[in-house]
Order: sequence, then C-alpha cells, then structure tokens
Amino acid sequence: MIKPQYALSYSNSKRTPNWVSWELTQNWLGPIDRSNDFRPDDTLPAGWPRVTSTDYTGSGYDRGHMTPSGDRTNTRADNSATFLMTNILPQASDNNKGPWAELEIYCRSLVKSGKSLYIIAGGAGKKQILPRGGITVPTKVWKVIVVRDRPGIDLSDINASTRVIAVSMPNINGVGNNWRSYRVSVDQIEALTKYDLLSNLPIPIQQAIESKSDRL
Ligand code: MN
Ligand code: MN
Repeated sequence: MIKPQYALSYSNSKRTPNWVSWELTQNWLGPIDRSNDFRPDDTLPAGWPRVTSTDYTGSGYDRGHMTPSGDRTNTRADNSATFLMTNILPQASDNNKGPWAELEIYCRSLVKSGKSLYIIAGGAGKKQILPRGGITVPTKVWKVIVVRDRPGIDLSDINASTRVIAVSMPNINGVGNNWRSYRVSVDQIEALTKYDLLSNLPIPIQQAIESKSDRL
C-alpha cells in the first residue's frame, strides 16, 4: 500500500503490517502536534476486516506506530496518516516508550543535523493473538535505518561505508532504555524476516553494509 507519507505491506491474516517504509528528511518535520486519531484504514481491499482502535483496548499492548507520529509533523494530514491502524502493531509498552522511542528520537536528531534517512520497520514471529480483533502480537520488533547525506530516490550516494543502523528488540516489557544494546546486522534481520532488504542496491554494497552492526 503506497500512501503519500509511507509505504507498507499488510498481512490480512496477522492484521498488522508486515513492514512499513518511509523517508525521513527535514521537509517532514514541523510544528504539528499528535493528532491521536487512531482509525481503521478504509483503503484495504473490500472484504478484509478493518482493525479498529478499540481492538487494542484492554489487550495489555500499546498501539505501536511503525512510522512515528513524530516523523510526520509538517502538516495535519501527514501526521494524521500515521494513526491509520495499518501503520500499527501491538507493542509492549516498555518497548514502545523505551528503546524504540529513544531510537525514534535519535533518528530525528540525525535529520536535524543534516542527514536523510530511509527506514524500514516491522514485527516478526507470533507471541500471541489478541482475542479482540484476532491481531497477531509479534515476538520481536525490528528496524533498519540507512543514514544518507542527501534525500531522494537516486541511490548513487550509498556505498560500502554508508552507515546503517539495524535493531531487533524483544516485544516485551523490562527492556530498558538503551536502543544501542539491541543493534544487529541487516543480515540478521533478513534471516529473521526472510526478506531481502535494501534489494535495490548493488549486491557488493548490500554485502558490505548488511554484514556489520552499527558501532557509533
Ligand atoms: Mn511508538
Ligand atoms: Mn539485502
């Protein structure tokens, strides 16, 4: 599903996104507050159940954004798009408000210092199924961030030494606050998800930047 604000793959059986991908540049950041208008995504195919905001009520899990509200603060419409339930998965509160949130803040700090990011995030595994709405709770939440010096779809600036941050976090409480302790290689995310990530890059560049964990 391609929206002006992000793109995603949605699982009708899990009732969550498989992955969500977006670009983060200065142009997406502005003064808009959280709209908090969680709502079903009516652009799903006819006949597919729409997850509603209240399907999460009392589940013990947060409505965890993939594309963060804080990454789309330029206009009311762009912020509101992050509250569509196709951008949401059940996330343990300590994770959502802890290392996951800290990494989101770190990403925005990189952008404020002039970087431009390509980000892909999702869940993996099946921890349980929420009784209301039949939503699969992932065992892990993961994210891959390509740190670039310029925005846009021309990828020729990405080379073997481009910084890539990948994390895989257990979707549980009690995970602390330090996102850096959950860093892994992109290869590890690919093994976890069975996706070939960053597949528009030449193979030698993928091999170089996917095999190492971020150390900065
Ligand atoms: Mn969140
Ligand atoms: Mn790859």
